[in-house]
Amino acid sequence: MPDATDSGRSDPRVAGRPSAVADAEFALLLTHDVDRPYKSVQALYHAVQHGDPRQLKGLLPGVNPWWQFDGILDLESSLGVRSAFYFLREPHLFARDPSDWLDPFYWVEHAGRYDPDAPEMRDLLDRLRAGGWEVGLHGSYDSYDDPDRLGTEKDVLESALGDSVIGGRQHHLNRCSSTWDHHREVGLRYDATPGSATEWGFHEGYLPLRPFDDEFVVFPLTLMEAALPDPGDAFGAAWRVCADLLAEAADNDAVMSVLWHPRLFAERDFPGYRRLYRRLVERALEMGAWVGPPADYYDLLAHPAPESADEASRGGSESAEEGGRPAQESPTRAAGER
Ligand SMILES: [Zn+2]
Repeated sequence: MPDATDSGRSDPRVAGRPSAVADAEFALLLTHDVDRPYKSVQALYHAVQHGDPRQLKGLLPGVNPWWQFDGILDLESSLGVRSAFYFLREPHLFARDPSDWLDPFYWVEHAGRYDPDAPEMRDLLDRLRAGGWEVGLHGSYDSYDDPDRLGTEKDVLESALGDSVIGGRQHHLNRCSSTWDHHREVGLRYDATPGSATEWGFHEGYLPLRPFDDEFVVFPLTLMEAALPDPGDAFGAAWRVCADLLAEAADNDAVMSVLWHPRLFAERDFPGYRRLYRRLVERALEMGAWVGPPADYYDLLAHPAPESADEASRGGSESAEEGGRPAQESPTRAAGER
């Protein structure tokens, strides 16, 4: 079996594996994108669209079947693991260009919009932080190419959290050639976006990447739950995919990462996903994996010194081609491109 730590050293663009987890067979990073914590307009939609009046229960006062955080925290605590929750702050519809106001896509986005600063959200953020979970940023739909917007969302989240965040993932896995420049500009240290909603696998290799040869790290997404056969209908087939990925990870000393959206832990609406997640984590632990959130893994990595990173960046990193921006610095955002 190749030594992943050495292979990381041989290619500066690969972040490798920290010595602290070198004895583990592989690593499994657990992440949750918090898209729609409130079942509201979606309940009405499902009731009408699918002729399923049971969905209307989700609209009763005090009932919110998509608020699954207590169950997830209990489940992960019972297994002795922690994960990352990435929070989203969509802009208000009328803050967009008027040409977007009649676009149904943005109406749906707007309907599910939530405020990380709402009392129940602040309480959740407190509990996550106190309990050792990672809180990260889920950049809104257009923020992948809008550093000002991304910076604002980071500020809102950090203000509600009372702490800084070091990474996250873009909503809908949106990305362009300058997305990582923007992430660095606003002071993020890692991105977990590259991946697919329809395909699983180690398409970017088995280890995290360093696109700028500096401290900025990319954790590709190995598996989004939505890509799997529906575990409500075909649990065995969905489990087979998970088991095969774990085996491939172990064979290659890989860093594997998975995304389970919190609302899919609602057993009535999305049967099978909660059980599948538990089984995935249990099996990874049985196989000797290091299991945790990306920020914890990031902290364990040995990172290049900032000086050398700066030189490397000036020395012709392709990804830094736009140049001019300070490499990596600060929440102080360079006057934006927009
Ligand atoms: Zn999302």
